[in-house]
Amino acid sequence: MWASQTTKTTLLENILGYFIAAEPSPILLVQPSVEMAQAWSKERFNATCRDTPALRELVTEQKSRTSENTIQLKTFPGGNLAIIGSNAPAGLAGRPRRVVLLDEVDRYPASAGSEGDPVALAIRRTESFWNSVVYLTSTPTNKGTSRIENEYEQTDRRMWFVKCHKCQHEQTLKWSNVLWEKDKPEKAYYQCDECEARWSDEDRVQAIRGGKWIATEAFNGKRGYFLNGIYSPFKSKRGFVSRLHQMAQEFLESKKAAKSS
Ligand SMILES: [Zn+2]
Repeated sequence: MWASQTTKTTLLENILGYFIAAEPSPILLVQPSVEMAQAWSKERFNATCRDTPALRELVTEQKSRTSENTIQLKTFPGGNLAIIGSNAPAGLAGRPRRVVLLDEVDRYPASAGSEGDPVALAIRRTESFWNSVVYLTSTPTNKGTSRIENEYEQTDRRMWFVKCHKCQHEQTLKWSNVLWEKDKPEKAYYQCDECEARWSDEDRVQAIRGGKWIATEAFNGKRGYFLNGIYSPFKSKRGFVSRLHQMAQEFLESKKAAKSS
């Protein structure tokens, strides 16, 4: 369960690259819709293969109509990758798959046509593999009805703990600790939970780099990972002095928009 602007898509690409190169298997990748599946294949998958020598050799580009590789089906030695939409029941039923990757599950319909829950349909494909891997990812949408939140709650709930550079206290990052003086979002800072030291944006990024996953519940066979937007490793957009400034400004703007509507 990761916020947008963390590294969600990159993580999915790395998992996929690992299985293609190191443990070739029949793989199913599900995007919310057929259109999104095709766009993902053309924009993300092709670029990943083009720029990664280990994959470039294995997944040959679609060159002709008779090519084994189409937009929604990629073959490589020892396996293949079907890229489908959660709204297309035909794609969800079919041959067994060892690896099932479900992207942006909070944007899936409740039912794929009249066939039922697309997540359950996709996971059913792995039943004949003892070593199957199922990966679900999403930015959570509405609290209470979010698929990813519901899934995360059934895991060991890992969170990324970071250390304060002043007092060494280990903590998770929370929005309530992003603070600024009234009307001065450009002065936003992060406040340590323990010693109340003010972290600059560089301190925050340093702390994230040195952090680690810690499970907050007992392991029961499912690992879950949580990241909110305060963990974003990316630089701020132009016009902001820091990522914290951007977060504060965006918060103030959304509050203003909510008031005027
Ligand atoms: Zn501290």
